[in-house]
Amino acid sequence: MTEILFRDDSYLRECQATITDADGDTVMLDRTIFYPTGGGQPGDTGRISWDGGSTAVVNTVYGDGGEIHHLVAEGDALPDSGTRVSLEIDWDRRYRHMRMHTALHLLGSVLQYGVTGGSIGAEKSRLDFDMVDAVDKDAVNDALQKLVADNHSITCRWITDEELAAKPELVRTMSVQPPKAAGKIRLLDIEGVDLQPCGGTHLKSTAEVGGVRLGKVEKKGKHNRRVSIVLDD
Ligand SMILES: [Zn+2]
Repeated sequence: MTEILFRDDSYLRECQATITDADGDTVMLDRTIFYPTGGGQPGDTGRISWDGGSTAVVNTVYGDGGEIHHLVAEGDALPDSGTRVSLEIDWDRRYRHMRMHTALHLLGSVLQYGVTGGSIGAEKSRLDFDMVDAVDKDAVNDALQKLVADNHSITCRWITDEELAAKPELVRTMSVQPPKAAGKIRLLDIEGVDLQPCGGTHLKSTAEVGGVRLGKVEKKGKHNRRVSIVLDD
């Protein structure tokens, strides 16, 4: 399996790796900084380079067996397995995903309802809440700004299945199963704000979210409010 470097350090922009398999439009590596599509967050794009060549990574996804597939342009000549390569992600795009992803955690802490869906983009992101109340846009936006300004620290840690089972209130996302690996679950802790299972890439502190504000709020059915956020730069 591929060693997943972005889980321990989401700020890695480049690293060295070795190709373990390259077939058609798919490259597999012994380690990676490329986040695969999942949990509402898009897969990373970027570049794989080697002695004498390189190829663009147009998307990163999980294969059927859970392995990480780096998708490249069909027809690009790929080096053999065992070749040492340099990886580089499209950092500007990923960093916006990290700001958005972290901001959605903040939004979820402001609106304490079940989350039934969500989507992260570099320009716009949203959460769907299982709620019938109207959303007070000004109040939610103010609360969001305060959480950013107060600069809460953000860390990750792993707990066991048993520890999570003892705290079912941690799982507020109704549509997404928490990421598990060998009986352990990754918890995201926004100090004093939010604690929940998550496998995505986050910032180190809430101040790094920077300029963010509430976008559209749409009523999508009796029990569903779709709340969007946008970045200001
Ligand atoms: Zn997250």
